[in-house]
Amino acid sequence: MIVTKHNAPLKQLHTFRLPGVARVVYYLRDKHDCASLPTNNYLVIGHGSNTIFTSDFERPLVRVELRGIEMTESSEHWLLKVAAGEPWHEFVTYCLDSGYFGLENLALIPGTVGAAPVQNIGAYGSEVADFISSVEAWDREQHCFVQLEHDDCQFAYRDSIFKKNPQRWLITAVYFRIPKRWCANNQYAELSDLVEPTAAQIYQRVISVRQNKLPDPDLVANAGSFFKNPTVSAQHYQQLVSLYPELRGYANADGSFKLAAGWLIDKRGWKGKQIGSIAVHQRQALVLINSGNGCSADLLALATAIKNDIQQSFAITLEVEVRLFDDQSLIQL
Ligand code: FAD
Ligand code: NAP
Repeated sequence: MIVTKHNAPLKQLHTFRLPGVARVVYYLRDKHDCASLPTNNYLVIGHGSNTIFTSDFERPLVRVELRGIEMTESSEHWLLKVAAGEPWHEFVTYCLDSGYFGLENLALIPGTVGAAPVQNIGAYGSEVADFISSVEAWDREQHCFVQLEHDDCQFAYRDSIFKKNPQRWLITAVYFRIPKRWCANNQYAELSDLVEPTAAQIYQRVISVRQNKLPDPDLVANAGSFFKNPTVSAQHYQQLVSLYPELRGYANADGSFKLAAGWLIDKRGWKGKQIGSIAVHQRQALVLINSGNGCSADLLALATAIKNDIQQSFAITLEVEVRLFDDQSLIQL
């Protein structure tokens, strides 16, 4: 049976906690109910930690609350089928406790397992795509369950086929293939002083660095990185380095460079700046926070001012990473 709520407070459905109501929310607790959802014009959500609703939301929401983990193994891999509504960090902890090592760099990322493939969550040099063998989804066009293999998912940096086609699939489960042979991934600066670390040590370090640097969404409303880290050409990168010798860039395989959007925003002095109750986080300039009574006009004004400033100062167009919605659909700045 599908649980339905009318005029549900949006504050409870997204971690940025702007006010407003969702006209109708369907809570999905049995995947077979996908076929009997009363409409097809819905937006799927998990915990709303990468989603910001800037006004009342008129379209139906489907909140995925499917639970369950099944484990099998082959000679070389742990094979897990995980329901889309499982909380991501609890799943990472379960894997560590069970001896299935590999996901520890992705500890403490908020949200659900079902949302993880959507933006191919990543942190500290790991991406979830590296561990996904396939994704089970309800195909909203064909009205049937499908299984998308890893290569069908078009995983890229914070991107996937699911992110590009938000109306097409409702992810019901993710299949993970975790190699039994484990190798520590401690290339990021915050982990690099760990000598021959265990998976548990990496997990603990990631948690402690994140707790020090990032606001806990249960305590301070936020949606993680507001903008995506931009990529610039090698020539553009060299021009910027000649102006800002301390700028760090990370070379991509195609010769372009990834820059840290947080560094650019910080360099322009935005840390701690605020409009109304919306502010740039003091410890990570890429994160915007809502200190309690924030409104969407202030959020959009602050984000637009930052984007314009970065464009003028560095000739870089920042793209919004969070999923920003008005009353019906996705919006861009
Ligand atoms: P939601 O915000 O509910 O949804 C996100 C998108 O996925 C929406 O477009 C939604 O329509 C779609 N979606 C959700 N569930 C499904 C489903 N079952 N089927 C189909 N589509 C679906 N992200 C990172 O990559 N790395 C980080 O290190 C990281 N750190 C963060 C730290 C903080 C403090 C916060 C608040 C966020 C952070 N994020 C990070 C962003 C966020 O945690 C991830 O994007 C996460 O995967 C979102 O999960 P969710 O369930 O909250 O998704
Ligand atoms: P950080 O360590 O201060 O680094 C700043 C940026 O530089 C990061 O975004 C990272 O890119 C890049 N970087 C650093 N070392 C790198 C290396 N060795 N190779 C390639 N790129 C490198 O970043 P932070 O803000 O504290 O975040 C730490 C990690 O958590 C990052 O991986 C970040 O993506 C992730 N995170 C993501 C969100 C989100 O909402 N998306 C929120 C908080 C944290 P990458 O982002 O590509 O790793």
